[in-house]
Order: sequence, then C-alpha cells, then structure tokens
Amino acid sequence: MHYINNAKYQGDTIGFAPTMGALHNGHISLIESAKKNNQVVVASIFVNPTQFNNQDDLLKYPKTIDKDVYLLEQAKCDVLFLPIVEEMYPNGLDERSKTQVGSITEKLEGAFRPGHFEGVITIVEKLLQIVQPHDLYMGQKDYQQCLVIKALLASQNTDTQLHIVPTKREADGLALSSRNTRLTEGQRQQANLLYQCLVSIQAQANIKSFAIVKKECIDLLSKKGIETEYILLCNADNLDILEEYNSDVPMIVLIAAYIGDIRLIDNLVL
Ligand code: AMP
Repeated sequence: MHYINNAKYQGDTIGFAPTMGALHNGHISLIESAKKNNQVVVASIFVNPTQFNNQDDLLKYPKTIDKDVYLLEQAKCDVLFLPIVEEMYPNGLDERSKTQVGSITEKLEGAFRPGHFEGVITIVEKLLQIVQPHDLYMGQKDYQQCLVIKALLASQNTDTQLHIVPTKREADGLALSSRNTRLTEGQRQQANLLYQCLVSIQAQANIKSFAIVKKECIDLLSKKGIETEYILLCNADNLDILEEYNSDVPMIVLIAAYIGDIRLIDNLVL
C-alpha cells in the first residue's frame, strides 16, 4: 500500500471500487468513472464471507482472478488490493461492526438476507479505513447497498464522496452480474425477463394499477420457471414501500428472483 501513501503525499485523489471479483464490464465502468475524477484508482477483490447468508452461494461464488487482473490492467487501474480472509478478519468470522446506520438495513434485502448488510458494513468500514479514498464508486445495480453505504459515510463524518454508477446491461437488458456466469444457456435466455418486467412496470407507471402489473409480472416469470422473491415499488430516497404508483415521490422498482438456485437482483428508477 506504499503507492497509496505516496499518492496522498503528492496531493493526488484516490478513487476506490470495492468488488468481489469475477469482474465484468459493470465493475470496469466503476473503474472508468473513478479514473475520470481521480489520479489514483484502487480496486479491491474480496469475497466477503460475512455478507453471505447462504453458505452454498458463498461456496459457488465464481472466481476468475487471472481474468480479473487482466481486465483491471486493461482499464489502467493503478492498485489492486487482494486480501485473504485472515487479513480482513484476524479475530475470526464472527466479527461484526457495531456501527448502526438506521432502518435502511432492515428493508428488502435486509429482510430477505438476514445479516447481509451487517456483513457489508463490516467489510466496507475496514476497506475504507485501509484505502481512505476521496471518492467511492458503487453500482446502482445494488441500489440498497448504495443507500446503506451512503448512510454509513454520513454516520462517520468522513469527506469520502459516494458516486453511484448506472447499471451496465447485456444487449437484451439483463444486468451484468458475476452470478450470471452460473446460469445455464437455457436459464440465461430467460434471465432478461427480470429486466422486461421492470420496464413494463416503468412503462405503466400512473397508467395502470401497480398491484395488477406486478401480478402479471410474477405470473409471467413463474410460467418461465422463475421464482419471484419480491417485486417492490418503493420511495427511491428511503426504500419505504409504496402500494401504488405515486407521482409525488421519487419511485424505484426493485426485483429479486431465483432462476434455479441462482438469486438475481435488479432495479429501475421510474
Ligand atoms: P460485486 O462484485 O457484485 O460485489 O459488485 C461490486 C460493485 O460493482 C458494486 O458496487 C456493484 O453495485 C457494482 N456492480 C455490479 N454489477 C454492476 C453492473 N451491472 N453495473 C454497474 N455496477 C455494477
């Protein structure tokens, strides 16, 4: 990490993109955004065990480190921080941050993946302490995670700025995700239905009842063998659930669904 310290001495700014590896163009778009605003760009790759509420998901999480290094070099990322578990959790995997960031951690993903955000906050706090970035880059694909980290930064009185980068998608709309590599060819062909549902919910905003559009989406997904965990219309500022379209508040629709045993999430701002 000498290079980072040198950068600070020289007054350079540091942009940071934390990842869990199996990198794709979504991750690289974070690096590209960071490069536009900062002299030094740092990426981390660490599959954080404490944020997985499902051990099978952790075990099956894809690892492609050689390709990751190649992609980071191509993107001219300056520093890769690639710690091992014992470095990040020297006192064992029961460690959790005591930082409370409010009720945002309890909604949606927090409710469906108990303990997930406690693990996220624990690792992000550690990474921020090590890298001490001026700018932090995260993807809109994990919208709630962005709000959680925004609340974390606010609670720390830090001047690290969070930048939310738009979701990168495949040509058919499927949001890029490391977990997509686990889809079979058949599952991959169906997977863009998640995005199609979000688009139809967006297109029918304030025209039709959200409850009806949502049911149509769940039925369509179910016919194709995709099990919806949630489709929720929320206030984009705080993820409070909206039962119906409400043009008086900023709206976002968020989806989580299982294709086989692979859990995918996506969202669209209305
Ligand atoms: P992950 O490796 O899945 O933990 O993601 C690391 C970072 O990349 C997070 O800030 C994600 O929100 C972001 N990210 C993941 N997928 C995408 C995507 N398709 N487009 C933009 N950012 C993404």
